[in-house]
Amino acid sequence: MIRFTPGGISRAELARQMYLTRSAISTIIDDLKTIGLVYETENGPTSRGRRPILLEINPGYGFIVGIDMGATHLGIVVTDYSAHVLEEVEFSFSVDKGPRICLPQIDAHLKDLLHKLNLDIQHISAVGMGVPGPVVADAGAVSAPPIMPGWDGYPIRSQLEGLWKVPISIGNDAEFGALGEWAYGAGRGENNLAYIKVGSGVGAGLLLGGHIYRGTTGCAGEIGHVTIQENGPLCTCGNHGCLEAVAGGRAIARNAKYAIEAGRRTQLSTIDPEKMLARDVADAARMGDLVAQKIVTDAGAYIGIAVASLVNLFNPSMVVIGGGVSQMGDLLLEPIRKAVRERSLRSAAQAVRITSAVLGRRSSSMGAVVQAINISLDQLVEV
Ligand SMILES: [Zn+2]
Repeated sequence: MIRFTPGGISRAELARQMYLTRSAISTIIDDLKTIGLVYETENGPTSRGRRPILLEINPGYGFIVGIDMGATHLGIVVTDYSAHVLEEVEFSFSVDKGPRICLPQIDAHLKDLLHKLNLDIQHISAVGMGVPGPVVADAGAVSAPPIMPGWDGYPIRSQLEGLWKVPISIGNDAEFGALGEWAYGAGRGENNLAYIKVGSGVGAGLLLGGHIYRGTTGCAGEIGHVTIQENGPLCTCGNHGCLEAVAGGRAIARNAKYAIEAGRRTQLSTIDPEKMLARDVADAARMGDLVAQKIVTDAGAYIGIAVASLVNLFNPSMVVIGGGVSQMGDLLLEPIRKAVRERSLRSAAQAVRITSAVLGRRSSSMGAVVQAINISLDQLVEV
């Protein structure tokens, strides 16, 4: 509660919200102050001349690393213990090169980043890493991930723990996106939240009843593999017409290529079709290119069909659209809102707000930070 209350919380408010007595709260808080995890400040809002004393997490308690592994990019943030970003890096990356090439790359970039802060890996309290596939949390590995060839069953967590000697939590990237937006972004205070990550892959992170829902084998929220067109294009998972195959980053780039081949008038024709990226289409759409805008709104309409079903299934109060492709803003969001208005049950559609990620490209890496602090605190309890 201290971690997730912006601006801090008083002892009295903690006691009230946790149904504990003031003296029980005081005993716990005194312990946390003794070890240096929390401190008290007098910066609360003034009421009748008295400033309440608020509890806050001591940012200097430790350093945390959050990693967001995408199919084509990788982002790393280093934060203090209150999750303020101290330094970050994003670089292009090919997840399909497999763990033996990718993990040393991550190691090198992380060490460079820490070097900028005059830190070493042994100064880090915990690391969280989001990966674009179904995660078997207990094993710290991914299971049959469609866009991560060569990673199936590879012991990611134990390899990195062996290398870095710090506790590591591996989670699904969309699940971490949901956690990041819930903790520090658009979804603060929401108990039923879906985060849709639209990048090369498309995935959903589900926070239901205040808890991340992973399903039986970590596959919950694989909205990218919901069938949208029965005989549509081939998907990375082997099926046809999945959402990812018609509206993911690769599909957006492919549709741009088709438009150029069909001789449509578009500024995209200045780009080598073989090197076309979803981001190029987004940029052109923002500059007013009609062909690019149509490709984006078509993708939004497909995503909307799947989100409308998700809204019917889980009745969330908020759907946050994130990931690289979501930088397209209302151009992508409006067709999603329209599909939900038209296709979801009225009481579910009226209850849900559909918005873009406040943390932008950082949603998943910040969720990884939240989870890393969780495991760091768990260790504290075990000691
Ligand atoms: Zn699929």
